[in-house]
Amino acid sequence: MSTSSKQAPEPTLFIDGQWCHSSDGQSREVINPYDGSVHTYVDEATTKDAERAIESAKRFFDTSDWPHLKCADRVALLNKTADFLQRDKAILAKLEVHDTGKTMREAEGDVDDVTATFRFYAKAALEVDEEKVVKSEFLPSSAKNVIRNEPVGVCTLISPWNYPLLQICWKLAPALATGNVVIIKPSEVTPLTTIHLTKLLVEAGFPAKAVQLLTAAGSNIGDTICQHADVDLVSFTGGLATGRRIIKSCAEGVKRCCLELGGKNPNIVFADMPLDLAIDNVTTAVFLHSGQVCSSGARLIVEDSIADKLVAGVVEKAKQIKMGSGFDESTETGPLVSEAHLKKVEAYIDVAKAEGAKLLCGGSRPDPKQHPDLAKGFFFLPTVFDKCDRSMRIVQEETFGPILTVERFKDGDEAQAIYLANDTKYGLAGGVQSGDTKKAHRVARRMRHGTIWINNYGPFSPAGEWGGYGLSGNGRELGPSGLDEYIEKKHIWEETEPALTNWFAKSKL
Ligand code: NAD
Repeated sequence: MSTSSKQAPEPTLFIDGQWCHSSDGQSREVINPYDGSVHTYVDEATTKDAERAIESAKRFFDTSDWPHLKCADRVALLNKTADFLQRDKAILAKLEVHDTGKTMREAEGDVDDVTATFRFYAKAALEVDEEKVVKSEFLPSSAKNVIRNEPVGVCTLISPWNYPLLQICWKLAPALATGNVVIIKPSEVTPLTTIHLTKLLVEAGFPAKAVQLLTAAGSNIGDTICQHADVDLVSFTGGLATGRRIIKSCAEGVKRCCLELGGKNPNIVFADMPLDLAIDNVTTAVFLHSGQVCSSGARLIVEDSIADKLVAGVVEKAKQIKMGSGFDESTETGPLVSEAHLKKVEAYIDVAKAEGAKLLCGGSRPDPKQHPDLAKGFFFLPTVFDKCDRSMRIVQEETFGPILTVERFKDGDEAQAIYLANDTKYGLAGGVQSGDTKKAHRVARRMRHGTIWINNYGPFSPAGEWGGYGLSGNGRELGPSGLDEYIEKKHIWEETEPALTNWFAKSKL
């Protein structure tokens, strides 16, 4: 995934309303994780390109009618984008499979999810008053007070590689619905669907300068697009280390900063959950998309009396997961996204063993003799570690791979289950699986995580809310809160009966 002086086959930067190549002619390889081959090249934007995009966005925000349009005009464009997303579903899904290695089924599901996101915000934006007159006994009768909902301005939107299309749309749809202008930066590992999406936005009729796209590594242009004085808001989804760096630079510029970061998510299973449902739930929660899911249920916290049977069932299922090309209909999960990520996940195996965790299955790349078809790709076997405890790094750190850790709690000790589930610095998501709904709700209320699934794991809706507690972030996406992130409140006080204030009565006019 290195840079090259080879020109990208087509320009992938969209700056000041024009598609263009990088100003220094550099490009970056896009690698297919299924076999490690170079799929294509995209432009590698320079800081000069980034500055040009921000200047264009700022000028457009300050001088055009876009931020002042009627909401209905903007939401018509959102609905049109949703139509085009469905029209190009197969194209987008294929690009996502090439980029991420996920299965077509998952990639098509992502396109449906983002279509729903655009449609949801087309409706939700109409429910936000452009301005509202304040009626209150605390106002003098001669005062008319109005609260206006206005766009924040130039918004930098930065997305990760695990759900490239989905994550950028969770930001784009509310940002554009509320009249902001956006600088989009997809992950350098998976830029392809975001490039196609930008074309759809322009085709749908969004003003070209309201949307600027920069493909490049965060290490090259990240500081520019976060620190530039003309950027008003940064919305970031990605890892904790990058998030910390971004929030520091936003603090310096007193900018709005919405962070959606990692997680180490507990999935509590009580003994009263039917075993077959529990096995299915735990396996799906952790191994979907080879564990490259921020909310993946990577920590199983299970009641003692069911633990051995449940773990044996999960191990059995994990061993049978069919890995392969995302284009093969029989494939159940694909590879990890890159060689670098594979090495990071692999390194956790030695860490876990050294800490005393017991490896029950997986723990390595697939055997090339048994699976020659997987030998060139970045595959890693579904892995289960038993005998884990809270002191271990494998329990506390996000591996972002197909690794499940098992912790047990004493029969009937609900408090211990909750304590273990909350014993993390993260707080993105978690699950409670139980046949006793009252108990499940009691436990869910006490869990310090942004999303809790009861008797399920993983679904979400644009109407819900998404975001973390603790080190999982400070922002909210989806739902009405996802829109609020991109709205500035303005207060206008009008005096309807102007009169002398008499504060300085001695100095008469
Ligand atoms: P990452 O932090 O390495 O990169 C994320 C994005 O930030 C990329 O576009 C990258 O180019 C950019 N970036 C890197 N350095 C930058 C800098 N200095 N300034 C600005 N931008 C910079 O994360 P990743 O490896 O792409 O993604 C995996 C992480 O994302 C995991 O921790 C996962 O949990 C998290 N994630 C969170 C959510 C959520 O909703 N909370 C969703 C998906 C992924």
